[in-house]
Order: sequence, then structure tokens, then C-alpha cells
Amino acid sequence: MAQVFVSQHPLVKHKLTLLRDKHTEPKKFRELVREISILLAYEATADLTVEPKSVETPLATAPGYRLSDEIGLIPILRAGLGMVEGIWEMMPSAEVWHIGLFRDERTLRPVSYYNRLPVHPTVSVCLVLDPMLATGGSAIATVDILKHWGASRIKFVGLIGAPEGVKALSEAHPDVPIHLAAIDDHLNERGYIVPGLGDAGDRQFGTG
Ligand code: URA
Repeated sequence: MAQVFVSQHPLVKHKLTLLRDKHTEPKKFRELVREISILLAYEATADLTVEPKSVETPLATAPGYRLSDEIGLIPILRAGLGMVEGIWEMMPSAEVWHIGLFRDERTLRPVSYYNRLPVHPTVSVCLVLDPMLATGGSAIATVDILKHWGASRIKFVGLIGAPEGVKALSEAHPDVPIHLAAIDDHLNERGYIVPGLGDAGDRQFGTG
């Protein structure tokens, strides 16, 4: 079973409540997605590796560190896009690789329609970004793609998970830690997380 981390940070709890509110406008919604993503990524990257690197202050030499992991941010289109910018500001040397998936209505399986990953892995840690871990189908397919690519350290960062999606992802990929702001009650018959926040893509982009 994968390790599942649900943030207990008061700022995350506060901001998630504002995010869920049906009266929150797209501009504020995008701002909150950005801020919560930064806080979750902060927690998800607590085990990154650093190497010693001293630095000259105006007064003397100080011991310091340099991040030695190369990070890849992999937003799942389209709702994952809003999670990128804030995290990227915190780790500007990260590479961003987009993955687009749609659900084949016949087989109900996710099918990749956009993937420009280079031939060989160029990063040592991948953060898969998708706000809603609903059925887990897209997250599992994305991790499959990244593993096939050769990525070895992969983490999932999302805002809200359904118990069904958390179970599916952790059974399919027990080596992938899952970082969330909350795990909600259930998925409804249309695949929405309840109580959730509605359609994360529509609410960010003002569509629907
Ligand atoms: N995707 C969403 O945007 N919302 C859900 O509740 C489930 C999947």
C-alpha cells in the first residue's frame, strides 16, 4: 500500500474550505489552487536530496546546501495546469512535462493524447499534479507512462482524493506516495468527488 499523506497544515485546511465554496469565483479559485499546491509541494518535497555547498556572505564563508535532485512537474491536462505555476516558482529549475489523457467511452480506460516526454528521463523526481484523484484512472495511466519512460521516484500531489481513487492508485503503484489536502466521502455515479468542489477544470477556467 502506498504511503498516503493528508496535510494537517492549518493554512491548507483554511484555504481548502474557501476553494470548495461554490461562491468562490474563478480568479480566487485559481489563486487558492496555486497557494494550496505550493503548501502541498512543500510537504511532498521534504525528502529531496541536497549536497553541501558553501557560500560567501558579506562577512565570511557559511556552510550551505544545493538541491541535487532534478525535479519534473507533470500536470495532467487540463485541471493540473493550475497547480504548476506556484510550485514552479518555488523550484524554478524544475522541468515541466504535460500529459493529456481522455477517457475512451467504449473501454472507459484513459488514452494518452498528448505526451512530449523526451526519450530518456531527464529528472530524478517526478511530481504528478492533478487536483482531483477521483477514480484514479488518469493518475495510474500517468504513472504507467512515467515508469515506462524510466522514471524511478514518482510522487502524486493532488488537492482532494476520493477513497476509491486513493485505493486504486495505491494498489496499482504502491511505491508512489500520495499527497493530498483532503480525502472526501465518496464518488458519485458521474465520477465526481462528494462533497469535493465540483469540476476543478471548469472552476479554474470559468467554463461549464
Ligand atoms: N474531476 C473533477 O474536476 N472533479 C471531481 O469531483 C472529479 C473529477
